[in-house]
Amino acid sequence: MSEHVIPIGDLNDMLRDKDIPAFDFKNPQTDPVKLAKDLIATMQAGNGIGLAANQIGIRLKVFCMQTDPPMVCFNPRITWQSEETVKLEEGCLSYPGVIIKIERPQHIRVRFFDPYGTPIVKKFTGMAARCFLHEYDHLQGKLYYERADWFQKEKFEKRWKIAKRRLRKIAKLKR
Ligand SMILES: [Zn+2]
Repeated sequence: MSEHVIPIGDLNDMLRDKDIPAFDFKNPQTDPVKLAKDLIATMQAGNGIGLAANQIGIRLKVFCMQTDPPMVCFNPRITWQSEETVKLEEGCLSYPGVIIKIERPQHIRVRFFDPYGTPIVKKFTGMAARCFLHEYDHLQGKLYYERADWFQKEKFEKRWKIAKRRLRKIAKLKR
């Protein structure tokens, strides 16, 4: 069984879906192991460090992270987040090249299931925490720029406008 790289298209409706269903290990909506492989392959093909299923048109609470080895989190939950925050640069495969600074908790404790339905408990810090929080937000239909301050939001708008123009040009050339 080989993995598939799924194109990351303009899936705006699904990116803002606030009612994404949990993965059901008793009655799986799709093969979780295959889904995990596809997510990792697609994230790596896009040189991303994280990817949520709804970014590639799969409406399920699942995302992957580029840890070593890559990790796929089913039905993730955040059980604790530190009051201590950190401002870091953040990008998103759905908004290629648009990097802005966002403030988020420095430490988190989380729970999720691996592709085999095994419950996992973990603590993340720094960039790994950042990645988990960003992908977790995707599954709630929330996007990174919505967490930015007004200055960074303005930066986002400007950069996304330019990036969109470039993406349209590339799409035209490919036709
Ligand atoms: Zn993202």
